[in-house]
Amino acid sequence: MFQEISQKKIAEIVEGRIINQSNELLISQIAIDSRQILHPDKTLFVALRGAKADGQAFIPQLADLGVKTFLVHHDYDELVAPDLCFIKVSDTRRALQLLAKFQRSLFTNPVVSIAGSNGKTIVKEWLGQILGQKYAVAKSPKSYNSQVGVPLSIFGIEGYHQVAILEAGISKAGEMSALEEMIKPNLGIFTNLGTAHQEGFESLESKLEEKLSLFSGSNFLIYCKDQKHVSERIEALFPMDKLVGWSDRAGAEFTRSVKVKGNASRLILMKSDLSTHTFQVPFTDVASLENITHVIVAAMTLGLNAESIQEGILHLKSVDMRLTLKPGINDSLLIDDTYNNDLAGLKVALDFMHQQRPKRRKILILSDLLQQGSPEKIYEEVAELIKKYQFDLLFGVGKEIFFLEQEFPEAFTGFSSTEELLTNLDPETFANDMILITGARVFGFEEVVNRLQQRIHGTTLEINLNALTHNYNFYKKLISPKTKVMVMVKAFAYGGGAVEIANQIQTMGANYLGVAFSDEGVALRKQGIKLPIMVLNAMQESFGLCSEFDLEPVVFSPEFFESLASWCTVHGTTMRIHLDMDTGMHRLGFDRKQLDKLKSLIQLNPQLEIASIYTHLVGADEDIHREFSLSQLKDFEEMKNEVIDILSYKPLVHALNSAGIVAFPEFQFDMVRLGIGLYGVEVTGKHDLALRAISTLKTTISQVKELEAGETIGYSRKGVLSTGGKIATLAIGYADGYDRRFSNGKGYVLINGQKASIIGNICMDMCMVDVSGMEVKAGDEAIIYGEKISLKELADQIGTIPYELLTNISTRVKRVYYLD
Ligand SMILES: *Cc1c(COP(=O)(O)O)cnc(C)c1O
Repeated sequence: MFQEISQKKIAEIVEGRIINQSNELLISQIAIDSRQILHPDKTLFVALRGAKADGQAFIPQLADLGVKTFLVHHDYDELVAPDLCFIKVSDTRRALQLLAKFQRSLFTNPVVSIAGSNGKTIVKEWLGQILGQKYAVAKSPKSYNSQVGVPLSIFGIEGYHQVAILEAGISKAGEMSALEEMIKPNLGIFTNLGTAHQEGFESLESKLEEKLSLFSGSNFLIYCKDQKHVSERIEALFPMDKLVGWSDRAGAEFTRSVKVKGNASRLILMKSDLSTHTFQVPFTDVASLENITHVIVAAMTLGLNAESIQEGILHLKSVDMRLTLKPGINDSLLIDDTYNNDLAGLKVALDFMHQQRPKRRKILILSDLLQQGSPEKIYEEVAELIKKYQFDLLFGVGKEIFFLEQEFPEAFTGFSSTEELLTNLDPETFANDMILITGARVFGFEEVVNRLQQRIHGTTLEINLNALTHNYNFYKKLISPKTKVMVMVKAFAYGGGAVEIANQIQTMGANYLGVAFSDEGVALRKQGIKLPIMVLNAMQESFGLCSEFDLEPVVFSPEFFESLASWCTVHGTTMRIHLDMDTGMHRLGFDRKQLDKLKSLIQLNPQLEIASIYTHLVGADEDIHREFSLSQLKDFEEMKNEVIDILSYKPLVHALNSAGIVAFPEFQFDMVRLGIGLYGVEVTGKHDLALRAISTLKTTISQVKELEAGETIGYSRKGVLSTGGKIATLAIGYADGYDRRFSNGKGYVLINGQKASIIGNICMDMCMVDVSGMEVKAGDEAIIYGEKISLKELADQIGTIPYELLTNISTRVKRVYYLD
């Protein structure tokens, strides 16, 4: 934080009521997450009320840890103690923003802020790296750009920083004013305007105006003049002397020309005073070129000379900057953070690691943090983080990293270069470990990841855990904060990989998990998942496993009830069970006629405790079944009441699946059961834009071939290019779960953003696509589905439903998890 502040001052800034203030305590850290406390007594914990959970619930636990100062909602009065200071406000999120605004006002060096639809994070990272050669730069970690992310980014600004770069992202109308008030950028960059997140805005125009309002007080605004409706709006709203536009046509402050050669480009910028600057950049694609141009213009506007900018660009690559979870050698888990270069990023990676299921040892492979500022201070903080996260082994690469040796003489091994580390690293010494690999770009830690990674066959399913959280929060907002959520993770979490997804769900604050069979539940328990687990179809043979692994079977018939009850009697144990009421699905479940029998069984068998009663809707996704769904819900209410009447305790009641949450929120009862929606498909079609695709199925091109007219492709000679052309062979087939019905032009993939249709029949492990006229080569990536190819569209194309496509992905396809 830029400056320490007293409790009294905090209360003043947030206009809160203070209870038990202490005059000595100075606050230097602000935390919103109970897991991120480093110096408890110097920390202000801000209890936010989110879709996930109420931060206030963590106060007793934090008080035990030694936290003394809490910002809470004014109705809070559960834990009061003489040595704890409470600052009460009507809205803690707003208070957090006011604190950020205050901290920002103390920072007098330039603040750069980036808004726009695409490229914000890349522009921020690149600009940060280029400026970082000369200046101490503070920047938002990852994409901390939201109403809560921006304040946290601002608290990351320290006294020694010479420039701050903050990203600003909004998803609905009205959000920018709070960000503007906090960031108050001196220099703004507007990347571009896309149609993403249109849902929260009236029109594209209103979205643009809202975004631009971030720059109302800026001295300079950098933008591209070639997106016409954007530049017209900008030029109408801001005085000319603030504007720094660039364009591929003459007449801008910077006129750009680009010459592509091989896999690099020469970028020439001519200023309006006719001075020209030439840069060699390692990109050729339009988006990277646009991003780097914004970066160069911003760096020049901030006074950096062209040579230093060029020097910085040489060290950039169009790298993947996501934090990724990968299967590692001998059942280890790798966290790949090879694009990290500062302390803020390290904290995000550590927190991500902390959220994963436990492994045998924790191992950190870390390079020098190429961060300006006093190394003693920085490595002191790194050492504290290492202690807090309890690493067993440390591998350091670089010069300054040797500071850690004194702190951790036993655990630390240092190397002066990545080569030296690689020569001395024996991958076989790792097994079932958690390995965090984090290093500045120039150390090239990709090679380390490569060495420790489990071999991956050409096809991967990438799962975006942030998108999963986004979708979860979307549904949470449709229901009352009191309503519990069971997430269905049956069928390998709809294909996504049960353990990692269940782990993320547990972190998000869901209350229950649902699986189809006992084995699935056992696998989750063995990997440390603690949430209660309901098993839809527990078989007689697995009662022992249910009992041993604390799984809760669904009971759906009197016979099943009796056999489970007697099993429990014989084994002298009790079990929590769930009752399925059949109100029209006619799959499993008690029907009305069996209710009396059920009630007497319940009364005779107190060893079975009724954890919940539920029913399942058959057509909640379709309006034509609305009446039927309502009659199901009405029947269910009567049936569950009959059962509850004979109980001396209150089981949970639930009925809604994903579609039901959207269509019948008035029937949410105590809990809802979320499935497909979490995985990114909104089946009712009412909120098409609100969810994010969580998974991307990708493969690579194995070979490219030129064909003559009349030659045929694949089995049964089904594929033909009538005038000849070019095909690419992809490393995915029906055995990977790529449905054979996509054969012969029914399906297509995206290669470098362009559509390529399937040609001929899909084979077991491969398929061919038509790439005539496209620039492609072996090794290029092909997207089977993901953000740009919707599952619903694909499913329609072959007459099935997204559920089937998701769950068909073979387990031989590696799952890779990341945070974007
Ligand atoms: C699979 C399942 C769900 C989830 O359904 P979605 O349509 O995927 O939301 C809910 N309840 C039961 C009983 C299920 O089997």
